[in-house]
Formats: sequence, structure tokens, C-alpha cells
Amino acid sequence: MSSIHHYRDALDHARRIADEFLATLAERPVTPVHVPAAPPLPEGAGLEAAMAWLVERVQPFLSASPGPRYLGFVTGGATPEALAADWIASAWDQNVSNEVGSIAAALEATTVAAYADIFGLDPAMRGQFVSGATSANLVGLATARHWAQHNQGALPHVFAGAAHSSILKAMAISGIGRERHMPVSTLPGRTSVDPAALREALASHKGPAVVVASAGEVNTGDFDDLQALAAICADAGAWLHVDGAFGLFAAFDDVQRHKVTGVERADSVTVDLHKWLNVPYDSAIAYTRHPDLQREVFAATSAYLGDDPDPLHYTPENSRRFRALAAWMVLAVRGREGIGRWVAANCAQARALATGLGLLGLDVLHEVDLNIVAFAPRADGAAARDALLARINASGEVFMTPTVLKGRPGIRAAFSNWSTSDADVDRILAAVGRGVTALREVRS
Ligand SMILES: *Cc1c(COP(=O)(O)O)cnc(C)c1O
Repeated sequence: MSSIHHYRDALDHARRIADEFLATLAERPVTPVHVPAAPPLPEGAGLEAAMAWLVERVQPFLSASPGPRYLGFVTGGATPEALAADWIASAWDQNVSNEVGSIAAALEATTVAAYADIFGLDPAMRGQFVSGATSANLVGLATARHWAQHNQGALPHVFAGAAHSSILKAMAISGIGRERHMPVSTLPGRTSVDPAALREALASHKGPAVVVASAGEVNTGDFDDLQALAAICADAGAWLHVDGAFGLFAAFDDVQRHKVTGVERADSVTVDLHKWLNVPYDSAIAYTRHPDLQREVFAATSAYLGDDPDPLHYTPENSRRFRALAAWMVLAVRGREGIGRWVAANCAQARALATGLGLLGLDVLHEVDLNIVAFAPRADGAAARDALLARINASGEVFMTPTVLKGRPGIRAAFSNWSTSDADVDRILAAVGRGVTALREVRS
């Protein structure tokens, strides 16, 4: 028997646990000093005991990845209003697979359109919420594969300068196959594709072609020249997919906005919301200029299911949660200027980190003008890099990840949290500085 009291009991526990986590988020070790093996599941223990179990045996061993100094991968946190909306979405528990009998799908469409406007997409483009950029890339590439087979009776090859690993995954799942990846050279010293090389590669290619453009490359934050690529694709009759998982958020900052110009000419576009928008996992949008083709791939018609334009006919999922609500809420609460403030701040923090790292005698491996910094110790090689990275992460002050750029092992830091302050950058630099000093002492 369920009554409102049972819900209140459970939610009061949830509120207490969340309060404790969020109150310590900025100060707890960014990654736990030690992570034990998962405790056995306390089957049938009841609400009190199960909740106590979480507090004692799980919560102390979590990552502070939603906090201000987690710089691994591209990781957003959750703003207060986004988290609240996510809770409400669970309480409402709408299945946004169809448009029947609930306003949820309509609100999702409103949200998709509002963000499309800010990203500067063509108003004719449609979009669907999916679980992440990997899934959005899959939607784009599966639709491109269908376009190629439909028009030219062959699988397409995929041309890209610095494709994210999820593009290869999407190629495999969509049936294009990883082996049809055609790497194109990048501009000297950059991770941005060389447009002349792309034009040449397409000119000598027989059969259908898909170009995957990076709007924000994961190691450097570099952008492909979307205007140039759109023109090249138009001339060659190629499909243009833009992976703007985090980089499309440059559109929120007046200073960086020009980088996304040209995205309005894409055939399909990926953007993640659980990264720079700082909504909880999992949330992304797959935009398309070809909803009819997309529907031919993803349609799941059946006598008992609804009809067009139900969302279930456009994405890999049928049933899914009301993902749009958190994204709707952040824009409703803060407006584009409010979101743009942390986008601009994160970019400034990346530049400040790069400057500080230089003063510590470290090499910054690329020009920093978005939110990512890749750097390396002067003593070259993976061993020196690993030793420094281990010191940095063991500090508990910050978390970074390894990378390799132009063949050189490096360390990567990405700023994408709404709550990161300039004081956090000072703390991070202090932790890196202690690591550098400690290693110098070991060597001498
Ligand atoms: C993070 C990222 C992805 C994959 O996104 P998920 O949300 O982890 O699925 C794809 N492309 C780029 C450029 C990314 O930064």
C-alpha cells in the first residue's frame, strides 16, 4: 500500500543524503583516497537500513566529479535548479516515448527548439533527447548510412580530422563499420582538419561520403572550420555531421560564438547537455535536418504504439525518462546570459591554468582558447608524465587524465563546471606545483 507518507519518508532520506554530499562536495577529496570493493547488496533490509548502508558504505567512496576541481574528461556537475528538476522528473515519471496524454513531449520539443536557437541551428532542424553524445553520434551516423544506401546503394566512408572515439563506436553500431574511417590530416600544430586535404580526399573518393566535423576537440578544444567544411561538403555532395558535444556551448559566449558559425549548414549535429550545461547524467540532443530519413531508420510502428511525430520513432530508445526537464529549467532560471557566464569563466580559468603551468616550468602543448589545457613535464616521456599525474591526483585537490598529443604523452585538464571559481585555479596550481617540486627532489 502506498501513501504520500511512504513517499515522504523515502524522499526525506534522499534529501538528507543529498544534503550531506552536496555540503561536502567542494571540500571532499576530488577522488577518494581508497575505494573498497562494493559491499554486498543488503537484500530485504528495509528503507532505514538500506539508506544507512548508502550513507556509511557508499557515499564516502564516491568521486567529487560534480564538484569544482574535477578536470577529468569533460565533466559537468549539476546546478541546483537542474538537480531539482531532475528530482521532479523522477517524481512525475513520464515516459516521453509518445505524445499521447501528457504535455511532456511537447515541452521537450520546446526545449530542443530553444537550445537550437542559441546554438544558431537552422530553425528547420528537429532534435531529440538521447542519453549522451555517443548516442547522438549514433543517431547522426545511422541516418547518414541510410541516406548513403538510399541514394547511392552503398555504405559511406567517414572522413574526419580528429574524430572522438565515440564516432568509431557509432560507425560500428550503425553498420558502417570502423574500417570505413578515413583519417584526414590536420593543420600544422593543430587538431583541426586541414580543409584543403579534405577537399582533395573527397575529390578522389568514389561513393558516398560522410564528413564528421569536430566542434570542440577533446584534447585541445580546437574547432574545425565549420563554414569551410560545409562548403566542401556541399560541393562534394557529402553528409556533414558536427560533433559539438561540449564545444557547441561556445555559442553561449559572445567572444567565442563565431567558432560555431557554419553549424547551421550541417545535416546532423550532436550536443551533450550533461557536460557544459551542467544538468545531471544523462542528457544530450541529436539534431537533424532529415527527420524523414531518421524516422525510416528508427521507426517502431505497431498497432499498439503511437504514430508520427512520437519521439520513439526517431531515436534508439522507445521508453525514456523526461530528460528535457532539467535542461528546460536551467534555461528558464538563468537565461542564455547566465549560462554564458560560466562558459566564459571556464575558458578564462583554462587560460589562467595554462599561464600558471608555464610559470611552473611545464610545457603547454597547444594554444588554449576554449576550456581545455593539455600539458607535459619538460622531462619527456610517459614515465615522467605518469609520475607527475599520480602526484597531482593523489593530492585530492584535483583530478586530471592522461593524453597523448602530437605523439607526446601529456596531462589533460578540462573546465566545464558551473561552480568552479578563480580561487579553485589557484588551489589546482598549488597542487601541481607541489607535485613538480616533489619530483624534482626525487630526481636530485
Ligand atoms: C564526451 C564526448 C563524446 C561522448 O559523449 P558521451 O556523453 O560520453 O556519450 C563525443 N564526442 C565528444 C567531442 C565528446 O567530448
